[in-house]
Amino acid sequence: MKKLIAGNWKMNLGRNDAGNLARNLAEKAAQANDKYELILCPPSVWLTDVADAIKGSAVKLGAQDVHEQDKGAFTGNLSANMLKEAGAAYALIGHSERRQYHREDNVLIKSKAENAIKNGLIPIICVGEVEEDRNAGRQNEVVGQQIAESLPASGEFVVAYEPVWAIGTGKTATPEDVRAMHAFIRSALAKAVDRAEQVAILYGGSVKAANAPEILATPNVDGVLVGGASLDEKEFWAIAQAA
Ligand code: PEP
Repeated sequence: MKKLIAGNWKMNLGRNDAGNLARNLAEKAAQANDKYELILCPPSVWLTDVADAIKGSAVKLGAQDVHEQDKGAFTGNLSANMLKEAGAAYALIGHSERRQYHREDNVLIKSKAENAIKNGLIPIICVGEVEEDRNAGRQNEVVGQQIAESLPASGEFVVAYEPVWAIGTGKTATPEDVRAMHAFIRSALAKAVDRAEQVAILYGGSVKAANAPEILATPNVDGVLVGGASLDEKEFWAIAQAA
């Protein structure tokens, strides 16, 4: 399986910087290769700019969120079809910042994922425990519940394991933590969906060029979801080269 190297730009970069970063990465990743696929998730207002910038290259586009309905009176939201038309192939769903600041729960995340799949997007469904749960040794219980309740029963999707305490903090899970959790997620997937072994499981949380080789070499790590370091062209490119 190709490693997925996804950059979540969050609410960062103006129009010019977004276009330039995407264009430079697309030049470097002009041709598809069998080691990795690059996915850029810019703020949705720049999706079409980034789509233009990566046109003809092997870089793919992702949205940072998607609504669970096809259309209607949902001020400020974007449907899967709109994102698809803007050029997206993927959509992040249930990122911990959406769970925390927008009070998204597993039930909502599942319906967003199902609607994304119905409309031809590949959801990247984020799971992960908060520090309090990790300290209390409850990480498998929490992530197991997120897997059981937020994954669609069928269709193509990706899971991203992001321990919340490692996001944007500079703290990375230890190699043993990553190995153990990804093995746990693989076995939880086997209970929840068909063809669990074909679901890519990404790791996210303070991934950088320096720790990417070890993380990407861990069993059941099929790629990485990168926040801060994806805003830096050299750093993000170096992460991809570690695949
Ligand atoms: C993220 O937000 O998905 C993320 C992993 O952020 P960072 O790499 O900055 O920890």
